[in-house]
Amino acid sequence: MSEQLNEVLAFKKTFTRQEPIPSSGIESATELMLTGKLHRYNTEADEIAETSILEKEFADYIGTTYCAAFNSCGSAIYVALKSVGVQPGDKVLCNAFTLAPVPGAIKNADAQPVFIEITEDYLTDLDDLEKKAKDSGASYFLLSHMRGHIVDMDRVMEICQRYDLTLIEDCAHTMGAKWDGKHTGSFGVVGCFSTQTYKHINSGEGGLLVTDDADVAAKSILYSGSYMLYEKHLARPPLEVFDRYIKVIPNFSLRMSNLVATLIRSQLPELDKQAQRWNKRYQAIEEILRSQPNIYIPVRERKEQYVASSFQFTLRGATTNQMEKFIETCAERGVEIKWFGNFEPKGFTSRHESWQYLSMAGDLPKTANVLDFLCDFRLPLTFTVEDCRLIAKIICQVCNESKFN
Ligand SMILES: *Cc1c(COP(=O)(O)O)cnc(C)c1O
Repeated sequence: MSEQLNEVLAFKKTFTRQEPIPSSGIESATELMLTGKLHRYNTEADEIAETSILEKEFADYIGTTYCAAFNSCGSAIYVALKSVGVQPGDKVLCNAFTLAPVPGAIKNADAQPVFIEITEDYLTDLDDLEKKAKDSGASYFLLSHMRGHIVDMDRVMEICQRYDLTLIEDCAHTMGAKWDGKHTGSFGVVGCFSTQTYKHINSGEGGLLVTDDADVAAKSILYSGSYMLYEKHLARPPLEVFDRYIKVIPNFSLRMSNLVATLIRSQLPELDKQAQRWNKRYQAIEEILRSQPNIYIPVRERKEQYVASSFQFTLRGATTNQMEKFIETCAERGVEIKWFGNFEPKGFTSRHESWQYLSMAGDLPKTANVLDFLCDFRLPLTFTVEDCRLIAKIICQVCNESKFN
């Protein structure tokens, strides 16, 4: 018994290995390639492109009227900012805990971010949001549901209403997730989703923008680069809405290809089932890690119907040196933890301090403090539930060996 406890556990699988594209997706992609019709506007008179069908299916899935497809979520966020009317120099409120394409989109739109603190539960600090909405006079709030943690959307909507904020949601980590039965991405004026390899649907790259606002939809389609063929879109507003913008909206050429749309269409019907598989893995890890006194895991709100494709926890009682050693030892045993405390931006993690292309006002002491001890790892579906339990046991073992306070 005690011998077994002393055994050093190790994990062998890779954290970046995805499941294959479903065979139906491979078949339809092959079929499409045989026709050569990879461009979304390469259609005969009564033919509807894969990309247009996807837009309709995705809008129906989320419960919005319109959808426009992009080459990435970063592009979709950028276009969303432009389409809701963000002008150069305008202030955009945004939670500081997010991924680099989000500040990148703000920069691309020539806007000025006003970063909001996060809480110890990795959620936007809504008191700080209120304070900064009032102090900055900003008209826009870009809310990034970072790593799938969804803040109290009832209160967000109430704050947006009170301060007349236009809400844009970054749902790169919440495709399939809901707040109180309503899909993320349908709360804001615009919602943006990613189908990049590490998100909930894998088409390599890809972005989907949803909205109920006819003007925002028309502008987004024009920005995406419709070559004035927007009539061919299924999930679009009436043609007269486009008339208002055709000569004033540039073509940024950020379209999705039919090949990408085909891959997404083959995965969309499985999304809710995949979400359950992710959550099963998350909960298996959570159950084990909760018994470790140095590990803090946020308790999720009952209304938060998350899709946990990654796991986050905070290490408590560790010094920075111990933290580094902990990450190193976990890595030696095959558990690749990403650490947001790293000062240098590294493999899909970066912190607000390293976005030096932005001029930022004020510090974010609370956020910095949370990030310093924030551990993060992916949960690819190529891991079994048993794999996940082993990962959790390794983390516990390394914790127990470390002499934390
Ligand atoms: C991946 C990601 C994005 C951007 O998605 P891309 O499709 O890679 O441009 C935006 N926000 C967050 C939080 C992300 O993780």
